[in-house]
Amino acid sequence: MAESKPPPPVGYDDTPIIPGSCWRVHDIKRPQPRVVAPGTFSTQEQAGTPPSDAVVLFDGTDLSGWKAKDGSEAKWKVENGYMEVVPKTGDISSKAEFGDVQLHVEWCAPAAVESSSQGRGNSGVFLMGRYEFQVLDCYQNQTYADGTTGGIYGQYPPLVNACRKPGDWQVYDIVWIAPRFVGDQLLSPACATVFLNGVLLHHAKVLQGPTQHKKTTAYEVHPGVGPLKLQDHSNPVRFRNIWYRPLTAYDQVVE
Ligand code: MG
Repeated sequence: MAESKPPPPVGYDDTPIIPGSCWRVHDIKRPQPRVVAPGTFSTQEQAGTPPSDAVVLFDGTDLSGWKAKDGSEAKWKVENGYMEVVPKTGDISSKAEFGDVQLHVEWCAPAAVESSSQGRGNSGVFLMGRYEFQVLDCYQNQTYADGTTGGIYGQYPPLVNACRKPGDWQVYDIVWIAPRFVGDQLLSPACATVFLNGVLLHHAKVLQGPTQHKKTTAYEVHPGVGPLKLQDHSNPVRFRNIWYRPLTAYDQVVE
């Protein structure tokens, strides 16, 4: 189909101003929302694809966007379009650092069930390298509630357990608002909305601080951006199709 020019916007210049904004109701001059081509949803056989404006952290081919804790090359395995934890090689972090984002991560716990509770398909998705959203095989596997799949580790269990069976691909979609600091003071805490496999696990949940094991937590000043960290918890968990979209403001005009 030939590309046709969209018709000019319609609107009004004589309507009241919307309170708290500089725009009129149905303002003819209000910028058109930026166009983003959506990606595709994943299936068990096939990873999804990112939207057109996403920053891709892992596209299934290599770990060039990742590093080990000491800054050296990430030592996890890449094959068949996914990366896989190589136990005892350590956590890996994205080279890219970011603050407020929409994050998408697909992961898969080992099909062969070994161990139980926190020993089964354990990994983790750490926003800003500090705030863990638990990755665990919680399909017919009980553990402490705030360590369940999708839990904000040690703080909040997920609202529900939406885990698929081991060996199935699962999908995290996280909207992350980074904490703000002024000097050495916390201005506003981190906040997250989380879906697992399309099911809501947390809605605008305010975090108490970085996630901790067997301890309560408190905020400590850190930079406004940070990496995505994936955990080596000695289980060969797989990841694919990892991307983020920085959150942008309304009426943002991008050249
Ligand atoms: Mg974990």
